[in-house]
Amino acid sequence: MGESTKIAVARGDGIGPEITAACLEILEAAGARLQIQEIALGESVYLNGEKSGISPDAWDVIRETGVVFKAPLTTPQGGGFKSVNVTLRKTLGLFANVRPARSYAPWVQTKHPEMDLVIIRENEEDTYGGIEHRQTDEVYQCLKLITRPGTERIVRYAFEFARNTGRNKVSCLTKDNIMKLTDGLFHRVFDEVAAEYDDIESEHLIVDIGTARIADTPERFDVVVLPNLYGDIISDITAQLTGSVGLGGSSNIGETIAMFEAIHGSAPDIAGRGIANPSGMLMGGVLMLNHIGQSDVAEKVHNAWMKTLEDGIHTGDIYREGQSKQKVNTKEFADAVVERLGEKPESLKPVDYSEVTAVAIPPVTRTPKATKTLEGVDVFLDWDQGSRDPNTLAMALEEANGEKLELTMITNRGQKVWPDGAPETFCTDHWRCRFLNQGPPGSNLHQREIFALLERIDGASLNVIKTEFLFRFGEDRGYSLGQGEGTKTTRVPVTV
Ligand code: NAD
Repeated sequence: MGESTKIAVARGDGIGPEITAACLEILEAAGARLQIQEIALGESVYLNGEKSGISPDAWDVIRETGVVFKAPLTTPQGGGFKSVNVTLRKTLGLFANVRPARSYAPWVQTKHPEMDLVIIRENEEDTYGGIEHRQTDEVYQCLKLITRPGTERIVRYAFEFARNTGRNKVSCLTKDNIMKLTDGLFHRVFDEVAAEYDDIESEHLIVDIGTARIADTPERFDVVVLPNLYGDIISDITAQLTGSVGLGGSSNIGETIAMFEAIHGSAPDIAGRGIANPSGMLMGGVLMLNHIGQSDVAEKVHNAWMKTLEDGIHTGDIYREGQSKQKVNTKEFADAVVERLGEKPESLKPVDYSEVTAVAIPPVTRTPKATKTLEGVDVFLDWDQGSRDPNTLAMALEEANGEKLELTMITNRGQKVWPDGAPETFCTDHWRCRFLNQGPPGSNLHQREIFALLERIDGASLNVIKTEFLFRFGEDRGYSLGQGEGTKTTRVPVTV
């Protein structure tokens, strides 16, 4: 028998305490080698005036144990209360969200009885930084940030996860036909990392058709790695496809800390009645046991739990007349799983975790520095004059412009409206005006030239709302082109 592992346990809100008690009963009976330290998270902490929902001493326990087994929490509406999940995820750098989605048909009704996949979602980047702005009367923006180190770590984690859990294929879904730089980076890094794992099959799909295929034939997928937003959406879809969101567990993995839980929430509507299904949190527990190197116990728990399902012993949420044999409450369900520890399911495929090893956390790899040259600037304006004719705006901008830069393009919502715009294009009050370096080959474009341009634009009573500097990194252009751009002029990059 190996050493015991210290874990932090949060009993949570709503049905949390009931399902936690049931899960701990099962884990203990299965011989899990755990030293439990309880922490307070959620409602009781919010009510004590701590807006993060995390008690100050909980941080110490989480850092000391490095493993959190957490019941669902209720986030109070309004009042500036922050979601504990989001705070823990961001503060502790829990970069990977892992959500297995397996069907247990016919015991849980589903149209996809063969599905057994794992979603690995990047957890910290993308549009989830909360960097949003209102820029004009009509336009709001949200910044999408994809980093090379963040992408490399999640993709590598997905391949390591596949290898360590005996899975054969990793699929990656992005929209890089549209977002060529951000999603393009995710796809490119995926291809680079995939090349290092020749024992594992890899594929990339555009996210729209990829999602359609997951919804149609989820059994053809194994491990799926995704940027944050697509992962958030698709992991709920895959949980639903299994027939019940209530049975899914998930983990949030960081470099030194990992958190395990059910997918579902605190179910206040049935709290205190002792009827909740503890399976989601129990499956979180199975992920935890594999993570801390107790795969023997994980296998025992998972198989006994499937045998219980198969014997028709069901809580109310999955109970079906004719199919189920006995409707049980939370405690009775846990007792039934305990009785079956050591047994294997007969109709469902038993799990075999004998080869499963803890997934090593890939280190963050820093990106080598490239020569960075400044080639121009996109100036964004709030402009709402007359009939919003882009030709009028272009004339005003050309008048304000100096010698170093040339106005090459104006777009509205990314659609080119000058030069050669179409009269049908709908224009908001938000204009992106591109200026590119006109200096002779080898001449430098300095930031001060851009600041001088901005002053002149301001002097012309045009309202600048933001700028984006246009860089080249080595040979690579660091900005997207508008339609028809980059075809007629070859610009020579100049060093900053
Ligand atoms: P929910 O998942 O709590 O409940 C949705 C429905 O599913 C309810 O009808 C509920 O009774 C049922 N249900 C959920 N879990 C069940 C279980 N184990 N057994 C039987 N039935 C179950 O979603 P919600 O109502 O939208 O959210 C309630 C609260 O949970 C909110 O405060 C929300 O912020 C929080 N929440 C927390 C987490 C988390 O801590 N990870 C996740 C999601 C929601």
